[in-house]
Amino acid sequence: MSRFISSKFDSLKPYEPGEQPTDKKYIKLNTNESPFSPSPFVEKAISDEEIRSLRLYPDPNANCLKNSLSKHYGVKKENIFIGNGSDEILALIFLAFCDEKTGMAFANITYSFYPVYCNLYNIKAKQIPVNSNFSINPRDYFNCSNNIIIANPNAPTGIALNIDDIESIIKNNKDRLVVVDEAYVDFGAKSCLPLIKKYDNLLIVRTFSKSRSLAGARIGYAFGNESLICDLQKVKFSFNSYTNSRLSLVAAIAALEDEDYFLKCRGVIIKTREKTYKQLKKLNFTLLPSLTNFIFAKPPAFISASSYYNKLKQMGILVRYFKNSNIDSWVRITIGSSEEMDTFIEKTNLIILEAQNENCKNSTQNK
Ligand SMILES: *Cc1c(COP(=O)(O)O)cnc(C)c1O
Repeated sequence: MSRFISSKFDSLKPYEPGEQPTDKKYIKLNTNESPFSPSPFVEKAISDEEIRSLRLYPDPNANCLKNSLSKHYGVKKENIFIGNGSDEILALIFLAFCDEKTGMAFANITYSFYPVYCNLYNIKAKQIPVNSNFSINPRDYFNCSNNIIIANPNAPTGIALNIDDIESIIKNNKDRLVVVDEAYVDFGAKSCLPLIKKYDNLLIVRTFSKSRSLAGARIGYAFGNESLICDLQKVKFSFNSYTNSRLSLVAAIAALEDEDYFLKCRGVIIKTREKTYKQLKKLNFTLLPSLTNFIFAKPPAFISASSYYNKLKQMGILVRYFKNSNIDSWVRITIGSSEEMDTFIEKTNLIILEAQNENCKNSTQNK
């Protein structure tokens, strides 16, 4: 730390993104990226002409992408906001709508960026415990004295609420903003998009990073009531007007146009997820039901999550392990390609067998 950093950041604890190591090539099942390349439409759209046009600033309103999203989802342009990844949109939402008094409420097990934003902006964070099976109880959020953010499906659990439950939370918080982070909604959950016409206190945040294979392009979007979108625009333009590069906007539009490819990739991931789930179950992992592109899993009692994570890493496979947290006996496994998951299961088999033998040896010795 330099002697120049503002004292208000004395206790700042930044978000820790999943590892992106460069020491060797890993099977990356740790940051919920897609195993598939972006649609071939994207490669075609990044033309020489687009590259030459990089001398010009991009459209600060991202009108082209708004038009595409508007057509695709049947939502008016006035109800759409575009950001540099959904993380940036979340950062702007916390900045625009929360303060020490209104605060933000969220589950005690959810996307770990939410408490970081609270810390950054000095927003009161209210953490609401999940049920013992890791699900969210909607009633815990009724008549809340804070704004609310819910990842649906939740991360890293993968569990989704149904729309009726989401609607009940919105209905029972008419004077609070309810943000629904739908980063994973394309993998099988129901979106609460139809509700934006009905409620002026709902913001839905989405991303091209996961289901559209564009994590590197940094494109997120939000749907909501026109006045909420105006507020976001105002705060955005007070911070940085050119948040999306020209090439990223072009890439996002092209990806959105290739519906067949999107459906195909999503279908393969869902199928691979179900197969992996069954295989891990057979190996006595404890698993949560997932409607995302990852599985939250607890290895059998004779091997700790940290040891399992380390052994996989030694074998060239990265999964996400959240140390120093209330979920340190679990790992989050991103669904990769079918081949990657075959290797993952093969290595997991080896690790489990070895740990089991080790465990038997120890218990006979102790007798
Ligand atoms: C991945 C993720 C995001 C961030 O996505 P970007 O659009 O890449 O910034 C937001 N929310 C949740 C719950 C996520 O898992």
